[in-house]
Amino acid sequence: MLPVIALVGRPNVGKSTLFNRLTRSRDALVADLPGLTRDRKYGEGRLEEQSYIVIDTGGITGDETGIDHAMAQQSLIAVEEADIVLFIVDGRAGLNPADEMIANHLRRSGKHHYLVVNKTDGIDPDVAMADFYRLGIGNPIPIAASHGRGVLSLMEDVLAPYARPEEDADAETTDPRRDGSIRIAIVGRPNVGKSTLVNRMLGEDRVVVFDQAGTTRDSIYIPYERDEKKYTLIDTAGVRRRKHITEAVEKFSIVKTLQAIRDANVVVMVIDAREGVTEQDLHLLGFVVDAGRALVIALNKWDGMTSEQKDKVREQIRRRLEFAEFARMHFISALHGTAVGDLYGSVHEAYDAAMAKWSTNKLTRLLEDVVADHQPPSVNNHRIKLRYAHQGGSNPPIIVVHGNQTDALPNSYKRYLENRFIKVLKIRGTPIRFEFKTGD
Ligand code: GDP
Ligand code: GDP
Repeated sequence: MLPVIALVGRPNVGKSTLFNRLTRSRDALVADLPGLTRDRKYGEGRLEEQSYIVIDTGGITGDETGIDHAMAQQSLIAVEEADIVLFIVDGRAGLNPADEMIANHLRRSGKHHYLVVNKTDGIDPDVAMADFYRLGIGNPIPIAASHGRGVLSLMEDVLAPYARPEEDADAETTDPRRDGSIRIAIVGRPNVGKSTLVNRMLGEDRVVVFDQAGTTRDSIYIPYERDEKKYTLIDTAGVRRRKHITEAVEKFSIVKTLQAIRDANVVVMVIDAREGVTEQDLHLLGFVVDAGRALVIALNKWDGMTSEQKDKVREQIRRRLEFAEFARMHFISALHGTAVGDLYGSVHEAYDAAMAKWSTNKLTRLLEDVVADHQPPSVNNHRIKLRYAHQGGSNPPIIVVHGNQTDALPNSYKRYLENRFIKVLKIRGTPIRFEFKTGD
């Protein structure tokens, strides 16, 4: 699971500036789900191999009525969802009563937190920090979010406990949730029909739900068999949640959804066909693609739609889902069970493509064919050479292409190469990544 980091503090202390800096390292991948989250923004960041989720909040003013109250609620939900809280204060404005209020809340919450003094650029950090020791919630850490100063070392500290030692990889095989089954996450916005679909997919079978020490932040993992094949459904909708867990966090949780996407082999993204493809759907799909997950798209509630409505949705899909073209699309009715069984064919196809293994021999021969048909261009009078290719990973498949001056390879050529590989290797249902390396 990815560590979840919430940024809290008064408005204007520099939370969004820090958020942008933390998430920019990964192509500004921001899940800003308007309407669902109001003032909370979710993004993914990465420090070396360690990815994390960052939540940005509007802020807490200390004057909690009206808008301020709603904003503060958002911050508190973010704290609840987080593993780590970065409490941001303004090193120029000095200590403020609202800071004391937030400090008190954090102390009571028992959440792991860091006191971060921002805007220490151009001022003496020691002077800026002096005020904040009085909060009594730990040593202040100086940064300047807008310049990036201190941010890297802050994040190294924050993430150090999450660094995964090598041996941990073995633990995966003893984890009951990793029993060789295909892990399918059912994700989508609220009310698109996830619960209905989960129930449909499980049928009447009695399923054993792991007795997980789950919080509302965790998905439920449901192992089951169908036609003698093993699956684990990752249920973000909480259908089979044990009754006695109180829903402290709202039923739909972005953190839960992002974690489920990460932990799945194949994501079944449910979209409400009656509403069409919304911005929120696109944001979620963006996360799936960025995480490199195999993907099947289920356009649900296809029942009772007029042919005119259906045409409109099809047209919209063509326009808006181009970036997820690799995924198979199904028009289903979870309510009536129509076409639900067909999802499995696409899930298997996507899984097989995502997990496929190709020998260096095969990939290199393919590379040679592709290059023979259409040579890379020359730069500075030297032809770019692509020598061999090997597989660098699965789920998503990674193909590493070695050669000379690969940095200069134009995007149009990369696209040509990628398209040929996808076609010849018959990759369907998963994104695929290419890495280009110069030298041996
Ligand atoms: P938020 O309301 O907490 O999200 O704060 P913002 O990120 O919107 O920042 C508020 C203001 O502080 C903006 O004008 C930023 O440019 C400025 N700011 C943020 N970080 C720094 C910093 O490290 N140094 C300085 N001097 N200004 C900053
Ligand atoms: P979730 O919030 O994504 O888990 O959505 P639910 O499964 O709770 O469904 C939300 C509403 O949509 C419920 O009233 C369902 O009965 C309805 N619904 C779900 N699937 C379908 C469908 O295929 N067709 C129609 N007409 N309604 C559906």
